[in-house]
Amino acid sequence: MREGLMMDDYPLSLTRIVERAEQFSPGRRVAFRRPDGSVGHTSFGEGIARARRLASALAELGIGAGDAVATLLFNQPEHLELYFALPAMGAVLHTLNPRLHHEELSFIVNDAQDRAIIVDETLLAVFEAFHPARSFEHVIVVRAGDDPLPEGYVDFEALIASAAPMSWPAEDELRAAAMCYTSGTTGRPKGVVYSHRALALHSLMGALPDLMDISRRDVILPVVPMFHANAWGLIYTAALIGSGLVLPGPRLDAESVLDLFESERVTMSAGVPTVWMAILQALDAEPDRWDLGSITRMIVGGAAPSKGMMRGFDRHGLRLIQGWGMTETSPLGSVSRPGLELEDASEEELVDDRVRQGIACPLVEIRGRRDDGELIPWDDAAMGELEVRGPWVARAYHGGQGADKFTEDGWFRTGDVVCINALGNLRICDRSKDLIKSGGEWISSVDLENLLMSHPDVAEAAVIAMPDERWGERPLAVVVVRAGATVEADALREHLAREYAKWQLPDRFEFVSEIPRTATGKFKKTALRELFVSQTV
Ligand code: AMP
Repeated sequence: MREGLMMDDYPLSLTRIVERAEQFSPGRRVAFRRPDGSVGHTSFGEGIARARRLASALAELGIGAGDAVATLLFNQPEHLELYFALPAMGAVLHTLNPRLHHEELSFIVNDAQDRAIIVDETLLAVFEAFHPARSFEHVIVVRAGDDPLPEGYVDFEALIASAAPMSWPAEDELRAAAMCYTSGTTGRPKGVVYSHRALALHSLMGALPDLMDISRRDVILPVVPMFHANAWGLIYTAALIGSGLVLPGPRLDAESVLDLFESERVTMSAGVPTVWMAILQALDAEPDRWDLGSITRMIVGGAAPSKGMMRGFDRHGLRLIQGWGMTETSPLGSVSRPGLELEDASEEELVDDRVRQGIACPLVEIRGRRDDGELIPWDDAAMGELEVRGPWVARAYHGGQGADKFTEDGWFRTGDVVCINALGNLRICDRSKDLIKSGGEWISSVDLENLLMSHPDVAEAAVIAMPDERWGERPLAVVVVRAGATVEADALREHLAREYAKWQLPDRFEFVSEIPRTATGKFKKTALRELFVSQTV
């Protein structure tokens, strides 16, 4: 009588989550902002009914089990329908970040072997810049108006209108449900493939009180884009629990978001520090303009929030709660919430605790490792690279890329350098990966350096992250000009613009005679950072 198999091996799949939303919360409201600024309302019931028809239509087009389908969409109802339809029909939801350079997007869709793509009409220019490199079998367009579509494109609405609802096929929890690419330190982006099991468990875990504390009474507005790491799990958690959703569409300026907070009685939201910074400035400028009494917490993650920002929101009676995560961790890895041990702590001690990255989610294991391979003690002083493992942490990248990011005993190497205190609370102190995070999006300093050094007038170049109040970090290029040559910053910027999006280009170029190097010959970026940060202050 001791066999575990006497319990049902019920599949942990997104199909179960979609069916639960359909049965238990069909009337739960989904508000959305249209591109023209107006606000509309639909429901889980309506969205899933459309998702079933969409799935049949996609199957008619030949999309089957395991096929990746790309999306180039904002946080909008059609994206929600695809979040439901693709995994439930056995296909793979592959969300694309429209802000990437077209070369990068081109690489990503080729690597993922996407068979079809669903594009918002307003993003057709982005799509057309990269698609010749890969001819999709089907290009499906979500139209905003009645303008006729170019030859060969399929109308999303026409597709749904002509199809019968699909009965979901039997599921396998280990099958791929979604994928998302992450920018690497060097080289090309790497694909993270999420299983149904990982996302189903992640959805459940995200609702825990010590994590995002999500209930049926919540109305969630994800400012975080639905193309960024599964919108931090909020979509599937909302469907599982039965919370309302508000999808802000393309308008993510502070005023538009705050208007929705008020009109839709939003209770929780989530976004990167740059978004919150803009919102805080708007609130500081007009503290009485919005009634935000419904909001109980706002999750900040993707980059480190400052104490000043936390305190700034405290002054408006709004609570920022920090989470740490990665595309490779689905993304929730840890959340920072004070425990009982801080019951008698002063305000200052509480803020010190809130800017830490927090305690690992249940079932996520953490450890810190020094360069020499030794594990660090949990004394909040020793520093080491954070390694994690758990049921929603990647074990490999798509196509076996980046195998060095995984240890032999199955842990994922995050590239974040941390201290861990006796309670297991993380504090990120540095980054071992050579990347810059601007407004929640990555810029690879190594790739920028290589391209700069391919310029005929450049002898050496190092790119470093400079602290920036609005964007978190911005790139600064330190350049040694080749002997006898002269070159202007604008010419270098133009050279980089051929492969990089505008927001990825360095704001500043500093010309020096020599770049300091470490004993092993690498650029000494810490020295450069100290030099230029102190010059700025
Ligand atoms: P991504 O895969 O684009 O979500 O980026 C993940 C990386 O963002 C992490 O490895 C960290 O370097 C950084 N990050 C995420 N959350 C935080 C946070 N709360 N504080 C500091 N850095 C963060």
